[in-house]
Amino acid sequence: MSKINTGAYEPKRCWVGETQKICYATREEAEVAARVAEYDHAAPELTVYKCEYGDHWHLSSRS
Ligand SMILES: [Zn+2]
Repeated sequence: MSKINTGAYEPKRCWVGETQKICYATREEAEVAARVAEYDHAAPELTVYKCEYGDHWHLSSRS
């Protein structure tokens, strides 16, 4: 079975605990994604934080 390349951008992800999170290369990129998610999905306020496992950033909903 061959993998079909749809041309869609597949973001890099990494496992944090039991969840897979999207990795953002820069803080700015993550902040833009957070604003978009809040707007599109009426998501709760998202915070940006540096991943402890790699040189990238993740989003976290405030609890
Ligand atoms: Zn990470």
